[in-house]
Amino acid sequence: MLASLRQCETLIEAMFRIQRSITRRTPIAEVLQTVTEAAAELLGDEVLVVAIDEAGGTAGTVGSWSLGSRQLLTEAGREGPIHQGVGAMAAPVFQDGQAIAALVAESRDPHRRYSQTEQDIFLALAEHASLAMNAAGAVETMRRSVDEALHSARHDSLTGLPNRTLVLELLTEALLRRDRGRRIGVLLVDLDRFKMVNDTLGHSIGDEVLIRMGERLRAAVRPQDTIGRLAGDEFVVICENAEVPELLRVAERVAEEVAVPLPLYGRDAVITASVGLAHSCGGTRAEDLLRDADVAMYRAKERGRSRIELFDRSFRQRLLQRLETELSLRRALTRDGFVLHYQPILATGSGRLLGFEALVRWEDPERGLVPPSDFIPLAEETGLIIPIGRWVLREACRQLGRWRAAGLAPDNLRMSVNLSARQFAGAGIVAAVAEAMEEAALGPGSLSLEITESVLMDEVLAMPETLAALKDLGVSLSIDDFGTGYSSLSYLRRFPVDALKVDRSFVRGLGIDVEDSAIVTAIVTLAHALGLSVVAEGVETPAQLEELRRLGCEAVQGYLLGRPEPAHRVERVLATIRSGGLHWPALAADPVSPTASAAIAAQALPSS
Ligand code: C2E
Ligand code: CA
Ligand code: CA
Repeated sequence: MLASLRQCETLIEAMFRIQRSITRRTPIAEVLQTVTEAAAELLGDEVLVVAIDEAGGTAGTVGSWSLGSRQLLTEAGREGPIHQGVGAMAAPVFQDGQAIAALVAESRDPHRRYSQTEQDIFLALAEHASLAMNAAGAVETMRRSVDEALHSARHDSLTGLPNRTLVLELLTEALLRRDRGRRIGVLLVDLDRFKMVNDTLGHSIGDEVLIRMGERLRAAVRPQDTIGRLAGDEFVVICENAEVPELLRVAERVAEEVAVPLPLYGRDAVITASVGLAHSCGGTRAEDLLRDADVAMYRAKERGRSRIELFDRSFRQRLLQRLETELSLRRALTRDGFVLHYQPILATGSGRLLGFEALVRWEDPERGLVPPSDFIPLAEETGLIIPIGRWVLREACRQLGRWRAAGLAPDNLRMSVNLSARQFAGAGIVAAVAEAMEEAALGPGSLSLEITESVLMDEVLAMPETLAALKDLGVSLSIDDFGTGYSSLSYLRRFPVDALKVDRSFVRGLGIDVEDSAIVTAIVTLAHALGLSVVAEGVETPAQLEELRRLGCEAVQGYLLGRPEPAHRVERVLATIRSGGLHWPALAADPVSPTASAAIAAQALPSS
């Protein structure tokens, strides 16, 4: 057995090192050096490799050489595995079954005898040396094909540039040999909207663009910089020994070069790039540096593309936070983590309760009640809006169904639900609406869907049949935040819209700001001319309400009339309406205090 655990570890480590240098095709002399060093360490003696020539003489050595072991050599070459002399031993190294060298250990103590374990170790090392010789021989004959295989495993076949594997290797090496105090910079270059090129012009043109972009990068960077292609339309530049200003200059040249118009089938296409830049003065792993550049690139995309961003530690923090929020949102979906609040919508003239708008909130154990503005955008980006929106739709319908069943809501009371772009554009929206209505036994006229104006333009225009199908279900459609997007008369005429919801920002200045009054007047006039009704959002003061009434706006919604409240509080108000005795528009002293709002909603309701 080996003398100690330490020795055992040393042996395993040595074997591993040797095997690794063999597979890496390290020059044979270096492999032998590793073998002799390992043997020397384990035995505590001088060790060398002696090459044997065809006649059995010595043809050269690796390591230092002394006379004591010379006698052993010929025997080692000719015969059995181990030859032990006084103060020395030798083991043969074979190539193609032929002893071509000997591993020789020599002690300073002329009487040293080697134990069986020491001989075993020594033999194992000599066998590894043989392995290296044969591997080297084999690799030599196969070099061409191996080279090719290695090349294609580490290069991108389209552009011939190093691929991710090789980029990481090269970056690791660069980080190791970096000059003292100088930086290694990594630029991550991602073409903007490249998917569109592929989708509209086809993949062969897309490939051509990528090849051209690879060439442009080459022209834009410094001769000593390395270029690679990581994936799809993602390129990387490794800049060795550069300072930040220089790195930024390279990044700018890259961005400019990429954006030079590219003639594609007789037309000039301009393709821009988003560039992320990260740098290190050492102590960073290649993977980390690449990831930092990626984070910066992502940030450049987020900030509107076609720009350069330098990595900043806070980006990573923000990404992590986003990821965390996304995970919590996913959890909330499976654990009843959302709740709906309902805000009353009233008829301006009579004060009659027309319905409620369902507004989603996220009940997070850590964050508390999170408003939609804090999670809807992320939910839209991640696609989580689809399941969340589906839940909102079902729950809002179910709630109205429950109120009706309990005799709390008259048959003409309507529930309004917000629909986001992704939801509308996604498949199955019509089926989802039909299902939610059926489940809650809601007939035509019970449900209204609010679609934000910008959404309507971008997504809805492309799907008139979806709108028509929703109309067939007896669903009414409102344009939300009206006045903040494109206000085009033609689309109002073309689409089966029932109502416009005047954005809060215009209601705010009513009675104070002439311009706001003029805009609301115009919206009301326009809506009426087209046979649409108008709902004003964000009504907070009696003056605003008065002005809206004067302008002929049909319906109002706002803190003055009632805040969004959970179902159980709304129920209390609904119960008092049934028993009557409420006068419109009797307003509370502090219309925006949340505790007063249920009472305000109650007071705002009609008397009969
Ligand atoms: P929105 O559709 O314009 O909803 C009206 C927002 O104005 C609500 O904010 C409401 O609480 C607030 N509000 C109502 N009256 C007043 C008032 O008098 N003064 C002021 N300052 N604000 C008032 P909330 O609930 O935070 O919702 C914000 C937005 O989130 C909504 O704007 C809507 O776009 C979106 N949202 C809410 N629920 C959903 C949902 O279920 N699905 C989707 N896709 N979006 C939703
Ligand atoms: Ca809305
Ligand atoms: Ca709105």
